[in-house]
Amino acid sequence: MLKLLYSLLLIFLLGSPCLADIELAPKGKPPLRLSDVYLLHGLSYVALDDVLDAVSLRGHWNSVRHVYRIRTANGWAELSPGRQNLKIGERFHPLKEKPRFIDGRLRVSENFILNQLSMLINRPIYYRNLNPSAAQHGGDDNTLDRLFSFLLRKKNLVAGPRLRGVAIDAGHGGLDTGVIAGDGYKEKQATLALSARLSKILKMNLGIPVYLSRDDDYELTPKQRLEPVAHEDVDVWLLLHAQGSFTAAAEGVVLFVRSNTENSSDGLMDSSRQLAEELKTALEESDVPVVGIFTSPLVPLGQGRLPTVLLELGYLTNPVDLQRLRSPDGQQQLAQALYLGLKNFTLNRKMN
Ligand SMILES: [Zn+2]
Repeated sequence: MLKLLYSLLLIFLLGSPCLADIELAPKGKPPLRLSDVYLLHGLSYVALDDVLDAVSLRGHWNSVRHVYRIRTANGWAELSPGRQNLKIGERFHPLKEKPRFIDGRLRVSENFILNQLSMLINRPIYYRNLNPSAAQHGGDDNTLDRLFSFLLRKKNLVAGPRLRGVAIDAGHGGLDTGVIAGDGYKEKQATLALSARLSKILKMNLGIPVYLSRDDDYELTPKQRLEPVAHEDVDVWLLLHAQGSFTAAAEGVVLFVRSNTENSSDGLMDSSRQLAEELKTALEESDVPVVGIFTSPLVPLGQGRLPTVLLELGYLTNPVDLQRLRSPDGQQQLAQALYLGLKNFTLNRKMN
């Protein structure tokens, strides 16, 4: 059942072939007509090779580094399906959507064509979608959301005694810096570093897949934040944050679980609450102070039963917390504690 659902979801995520053609050229030149266009989330995705052809650029896929390199007048530009930015020389330009491999070709969204392509050729772009109705935002958003929540409701019916996979959201990113400490250290840096460390520990010790919402410094749409959760083998979702206070005295970790978590009639504790308790214990045993576990209206996947905990991993306004959040040793201490909490959760979990 889940396999089938996942295939359905994949079809949604991978998009569908579209009959719409586009026209593309440097402004003032005769346009090239491109037909190999896919529709995904209401956006047209065009093969990067075709896009570059249309503006007389050349590039190639580097399968070792997993990047597509493009020779431009401003130096080498790079795109990667794992990154939501365009690198030109040493500068990163955020993208609205990551490039994606669809049907064997790396493709970019029409937002890339409209917003970033001109940077590669230093002149304006002519772009026309010949089937704009197909590219209009349709109802697929709702369908995707419904599929997500259905998938999540089913989750813990199949979850076994061990973790199959973990989704981690590194809070904030890009222009969204989150809280900024007095010395300029940013929440988005702490969350990125912690998610990378935790991911490494999980992969090394448990050998399970870890899905990160971002692996670099860029902004995410709400949907991109959810994408890691859509993987069929995700059993746990952690959202990592840090916070600030008006007073330097405020310190410690605060954990949040959904406010609408229902204690089932047989008295079994909600799985998110169980996970939060295990994380709290592991943090305290690692000498990290914990304020407590609170409820919060977390994310619109409220009906999902996927164990989910949002952690504020300390106060950037408190000198001790700040040191822990920004130093490699402190980050390792936090990541190691979260790993132990996850491990104990799977060992002690009461299946309901
Ligand atoms: Zn935050």
